[in-house]
Amino acid sequence: MPSDAYNWIEQSLATIHKADWYRAVQTIQGLSGATVQINGRSLINFASNDYLGLASDDRLIQAAITATKKYGTGSTGSRLLSGHRELHCELECAIASFKQTEDALVFSSGYLANLGVVSAIVGQRDLILSDQYNHSSLKNGAILSGATVIEYSHCDLVSLQTHLDRQRDRYRRCLIITDSIFSMDGDLCPLSGLLDLAEHYNCMLLVDEAHATGVLGRGAGCVEHFECTQRQLIQVGTLSKALGSLGGYVAGTKTLIDFLRNRAPSWIYTTALSPADTAAALAAIQMIQQEPERRQQLWRNINNLKLLIHQQLPHLKLLPSDSAILCLLLPSAADALIAAHHLKDAGIFAPAIRPPTVPTSRIRISLMATHTLAHIKQLVDVLSAINIVSSTTSAKSVCGDQ
Ligand code: PMP
Repeated sequence: MPSDAYNWIEQSLATIHKADWYRAVQTIQGLSGATVQINGRSLINFASNDYLGLASDDRLIQAAITATKKYGTGSTGSRLLSGHRELHCELECAIASFKQTEDALVFSSGYLANLGVVSAIVGQRDLILSDQYNHSSLKNGAILSGATVIEYSHCDLVSLQTHLDRQRDRYRRCLIITDSIFSMDGDLCPLSGLLDLAEHYNCMLLVDEAHATGVLGRGAGCVEHFECTQRQLIQVGTLSKALGSLGGYVAGTKTLIDFLRNRAPSWIYTTALSPADTAAALAAIQMIQQEPERRQQLWRNINNLKLLIHQQLPHLKLLPSDSAILCLLLPSAADALIAAHHLKDAGIFAPAIRPPTVPTSRIRISLMATHTLAHIKQLVDVLSAINIVSSTTSAKSVCGDQ
């Protein structure tokens, strides 16, 4: 008798299709930059996290090739066994110096960094207070830790303080976790207020700088932007967005990093970051520090797009943003999909982001330093031509970036 134990998968997929929540991959051909090739067509790329355009930069590519020739393609082992190379140390020193912390540790991805750090520093007797729009990796790290998790209203210090007043004394340790720039909305956390509350209630604060690194401050992110580098907190992030490589990191005190080397399973039990990724990230950090003009150009692009939308498309609902991520709200998942298709037909690659990733559907536009004013004007012209209707609601996302 054939088993029907797996039939639910097909039914579940049918439900996903019916709700317009189905996601399919699309193949990007060749290098991904300000423009990309999809199905043989060149599109202007507003879907990339490569904010500074470094992923296709010759110096990063050369750094990866040189490291591969010197060390091989794979790291061949976990860091504590046989995979640890001098390149990893160099990158960790560079991250610590960039972030102005005592030390840093690199993981195989930003997702693994969040899982590893959160689950290592709190446990069953502890409390996590988590911004409701945090990235999936922070949310899942919180679940994995076994701590009690309470979500506070998005960027709302009063909501956070209310929970602290009610709950803090019942738990041994308390950890507040937040994205610095929220990946599906593009807005910025109230870092100074979060630090004040963390200090007052004797809590740890962990900030995910994935979308702020390379973009805010002098490139080091939101902590630098708010001049909080000297305050006590834990910074995590990714090497895969503005740094154009792959991997994640945590930056903090020597004691914290030493502890994590002994207690973070997603660092201990996985193969070390590849030589190519490590060397590319190292080159990116050097370039970001030495060449501020990329970040400055990114901000000119962000401001130009905001201004043009404001002037030419005042009927469209743009979510408030402090970053390279700009979102146009649409009434439904179907509307968002149709808008993304029209944009694509007209030569623009900007994805529809729908539930369950976010509660309200939207077109998510991410800007790069390598976009030209002509690219940005073309986006605005196409948005006017396809005549999309924006949602009137202002609800925001719940689970963060994909
Ligand atoms: N944190 C945030 C806020 C993110 O947006 C992402 C990726 N989309 C991650 C962490 C995970 O980083 P990575 O892609 O390096 O796994």
